[in-house]
Order: sequence, then structure tokens, then C-alpha cells
Amino acid sequence: MRQVTLLGATGSIGDSTLDVLARHTEKYQVYALTANQASEKLFEQCQRFQPKVAVMRDRDAARTLQIALKEAGIKTEVRYGDAALTEIAADPQSDIVVAAIVGSAGLLPTLAAAKAGKRILLANKEALVMSGALLMQTVMDNGAELLPVDSEHNAIWQCLPVSDSQQYHFADKGVRRLILTASGGPFRDWSAADLATVTPEQAVAHPNWSMGQKISVDSATMMNKGLEVVEAHWLFGLPANQIEVVLHRQSIIHSMVDYLDGSVLAQMGNPDMRTPIANTLAWPERIDSGVMPLDLISVGRLDFKAASFAQFPCLKLAYQALKAGGTSTAILNAANEVAVSAFLENRLKFIDIATVIEQTLMAVSSQTADDLEVILEADRLARQQAERVIC
Ligand code: NAD
Ligand code: MG
Repeated sequence: MRQVTLLGATGSIGDSTLDVLARHTEKYQVYALTANQASEKLFEQCQRFQPKVAVMRDRDAARTLQIALKEAGIKTEVRYGDAALTEIAADPQSDIVVAAIVGSAGLLPTLAAAKAGKRILLANKEALVMSGALLMQTVMDNGAELLPVDSEHNAIWQCLPVSDSQQYHFADKGVRRLILTASGGPFRDWSAADLATVTPEQAVAHPNWSMGQKISVDSATMMNKGLEVVEAHWLFGLPANQIEVVLHRQSIIHSMVDYLDGSVLAQMGNPDMRTPIANTLAWPERIDSGVMPLDLISVGRLDFKAASFAQFPCLKLAYQALKAGGTSTAILNAANEVAVSAFLENRLKFIDIATVIEQTLMAVSSQTADDLEVILEADRLARQQAERVIC
């Protein structure tokens, strides 16, 4: 029995993970579930999966959960707070940690899981964008496994040559380019004039994937693809000029690897996160994920188009930050989180998200990013600056 800790259990990736785990109760046991504030949903999940521990970040929500569990006679132990989240990620009783908290809040728990040598199923791309060098080094130093759940990176990972488990650098294995596919989000065919009036409701309605609010807005601006370029750089050790993005509206090819001999390997499937979750859970084996078999006849065609920096300035900013190096990508990430929140709260126009990020990148200077304190300080300064730009 492998023991699984699910960080961010009440989110979209959390739901998909529990769906896969429920199909394989003979192989996996849920050790711990965590959430921010959603005590009611976490209670339902505790009822169903009977974890040993439940952690809520919010203290009042933890109290509500504790009362509900007691009334229902469920023995799950309840803890709360940021320190408890980091502790549970490193708990020696679990083998697998699913990092599915959204945003920078996922960084410290993910680092803790790496330090504790866990198999980490990484959905929380922001952790790598903020601290790629540090997280990868921590993984290597502690014999952890960092397996990509993000569908593009999982696709690339499946298309890369079989390697020693800790060999993440593929530049010398005949790889010419990584090609990340992008659906283009809900506004891929919109004009610049139409984009000026986009509402949060329109931005979170993704045509192919059902996801949390933040990543849905990131998909609409294509900052999601920008964060994924940075994520691919750290996971696979290739420079920015060997990582390309192509628009592919059907989201059937999840990404590709182009080799020097002209072979291009693609991974395909229905757009459903249970595939990469099942793949990383069971790796190197394969298990049923519950995803419908791909019906190529009903898909019919696969389209590809160039991704334009003019249409998606956030993508350009992400490439620039990656090339600048140091804490630039932590600054990019923090400014984006602040701008997306402001947009969702109707304090910022959709088209101004990129402006806030660009101005923050210009105002906050980049430092060498091999130290956690430096990264957290860059995150803090960038948030302050981004708020200043918005006001
Ligand atoms: P979501 O908003 O649906 O869920 C987020 C989870 O994190 C919830 O359980 C929430 O309680 C928890 N959380 C939020 N803030 C927290 C905090 N401050 N402290 C502790 N916990 C907190 O998000 P999601 O769509 O499931 O995405 C999760 C992560 O996975 C993101 O980094 C996203 O980029 C990545 N990802 C998601 C998808 C997808 O299909 N949803 C695909 C690829 C990658
Ligand atoms: Mg993705």
C-alpha cells in the first residue's frame, strides 16, 4: 500500500486525483488531505477516504471541520496553519505527495516534500517558476522524484528517452526542441478590441479543460503557457530557445519532443487531468485512470497555428523573464498572481494584466535565485510593486 498526501485536495486537481485513487484502493491509501478554507468539501472527502490527517490552512475552517468529523464519528486528526501544511508534506508516513495547491502558497510544502525525499506529483507549476534551481537541486540532493502532472510536461516526459530516475537533463540525448501545445484559451479568436471588455466569467470558461479560477485566467492570457515554458526549462534542462509553443485548439496532442533525426514524438489523449495523474502515480507502471479512450474519428482533425506575442503579451513576458534568469521568474509569477486576483475582483481590466506584470518586472531588480530567502523577498517586493501599479 502506498500512502498518499494530497495538498490542495478540494481543488480541480484534487478532485481528479481522488477520482483516480478511488479506482485503486488496493494500491493506494489516502494518508492526508489539505485545503485552504473549504471545510465542507474537505469534510465530505474525509468521510469518503478516511485519511489519518486533514490540514486546513485557515484556523476557523479547521475548527468547523473538527466539529463535523467528531459528530460523524470520523477519526481523522485535524491540524491547521501554514506550518502544519509544510509538516504534513514531509511526514515520514506518506510515500507520495501530490502538490496541487494553487500559486506561490504551494512553494514551501513542495520544497518540504522534496527535502523529505518523496515522490512528488507536481501540479503546482508556480513552485518551479519561483524557485526552479533551488527545487531541482533539493530534489537531487534528497533522492526525491519530481514527476510532472501538468499535461504538457507529462506528455514531454512520456516522449523523452527512458533514463535513470534522476536524469532530468536531456540536451545531450539528441533532443532538438520541446514543443508545448496550447489551446489558446477562450479568446484565441478574439480581436484586440473585444479583449478590452472581457469579464471574469468569460475568462474562467475554458473551451477544453475544467480547472481552478487562477489557472483558467492564466490560460486566457496565455501566461499559463509562459509559466509552462519556465517549468519545462527547469524540468528538462533545455534553454528557452529550444522550447517552443504552438497553438493547437483541440487539446488532443498534449505536447511533443523533436529529435535531431527528424522524429517528432507526441503524446495524445482526451483532455482530462486524470491521465497525467494516473501516469505519475503508477510510473513506471500504467493503471486505469477512468478517462474515455480517444476516438480519433470523432476528433477528425488536428489544427496548428503560430502563437503570436502581439496577441498574447504575457507569453512574451515569460520568455523574457526566463532569459533574464535569477529572480525574474519569481517576480513575473508574483505580479501575475496579484494582477489575476485584481482582475477576478473587478479591480483590473483583462488587457491590463500584462501591463502590470511588465511594469513590475521593470521596477523590481532581479537577483541570483539560489537562496529561499532571496526568492521570498523578490516575491514580496513584486507583490507590493504590482499592487502599486494597479492602484
Ligand atoms: P484550484 O483553485 O481548483 O484548487 C486549489 C487548491 O489549493 C484548493 O484545494 C485550495 O483549498 C488550495 N489552496 C488555495 N490557496 C491555498 C493556500 N494559501 N494555502 C493552502 N492551500 C491553498 O486549483 P487547480 O486548478 O486544482 O490547480 C492547482 C495547481 O495545479 C495550480 O498550480 C495549477 O496551475 C496546476 N494545474 C492545474 C491544472 C488543472 O487542470 N486544474 C492543470 C495543470 C496544472
Ligand atoms: Mg498545462
